[in-house]
Amino acid sequence: ADLAMNEAKSANHGVRLFEPGMERHIEHGLTLLSDLRRAAEADEFFLLFQPKLRLDDGRCDAAEVLVRWRHPQRGIVPPDRFIPFAEQTGAIKAITRWVLGHALLQLAQWHREGWAGLSLNVNVSTRDLMQPDFPAQVERALRHAGVAAGHLCLEVTESAIMDDPLLAMDCLQALNRLGVRLAIDDFGTGYSSLAYLKKLPVQELKIDRSFISSLDRDEADVTIVRSTIDMAHHMGLSVVAEGIETEAVSQRLRAFGCDQAQGYLYSRPLSSTDFVDWLRQHRSGVARLTAPVAA
Ligand code: C2E
Ligand code: MG
Ligand code: MG
Ligand code: MG
Repeated sequence: ADLAMNEAKSANHGVRLFEPGMERHIEHGLTLLSDLRRAAEADEFFLLFQPKLRLDDGRCDAAEVLVRWRHPQRGIVPPDRFIPFAEQTGAIKAITRWVLGHALLQLAQWHREGWAGLSLNVNVSTRDLMQPDFPAQVERALRHAGVAAGHLCLEVTESAIMDDPLLAMDCLQALNRLGVRLAIDDFGTGYSSLAYLKKLPVQELKIDRSFISSLDRDEADVTIVRSTIDMAHHMGLSVVAEGIETEAVSQRLRAFGCDQAQGYLYSRPLSSTDFVDWLRQHRSGVARLTAPVAA
């Protein structure tokens, strides 16, 4: 084994192929991958819902769906710990299908319970957009749940689009033809050109939290956020600010004409039952077109 190891080393100009740490890393990756592949079938995922509010009147007519993984040994795993890995390995496709399916069934139930104006935002990744049958998959999920396409908004990051702009564009256009709304997530952290952004069939632009959190202190961020809001409005997009944690930041965004807001100031991501409780208590109400059947 030592000999083989030495051969491997010399064949690779002294680069060690089999670091003990690396082995552990690969093993860990493989375990994670098989765990992930089982997770969707075993229903180990669950969804949280974070309210999205309109800044002018404070009404809430949408929530963002955020996935969590209840791992039998590791406990609750946040998405940043498994989504990037799932994207690399392709396991993301099964996760997206699970999330979309469960989110839409939940939304259908809320519509039946009287929260008729409610919409959901669901995060999707590059890999999803690169699948030619993704729009068809979304259409099936909508039809299965009996939810109108206009009540679904898919969030895509700039970098997901820029990975393969032409392929992404085809997919986004097909989704738009279905009537699904589209949002650019984490805006400002990628490197998409404005010329390209202009051509994208999106309706919402979500300004990344990193520009929002220091808005009450950092004048450079103020300039960036104000001009982003103006630009987005010129392009006919609705602007969402993510990560609002203080009243001061919220006030500034309202003054700048930002349309929608999300953040711990209003609510953390909530379980489905807590979200409904939150909607009931939220003083500005929701876009509730009919009264809940059993309030
Ligand atoms: P994101 O889509 O940009 O979601 C916003 C993240 O910011 C969420 O973290 C949310 O809990 C957090 N957040 C919201 N308000 C505040 C605030 O006021 N302060 C701070 N510090 N954080 C706030 P979370 O749930 O951990 O999700 C992280 C990322 O994981 C998401 O970023 C999204 O990119 C990805 N993700 C989550 N769920 C899914 C999913 O179902 N599918 C895919 N593909 N990605 C997902
Ligand atoms: Mg998002
Ligand atoms: Mg975001
Ligand atoms: Mg993010």
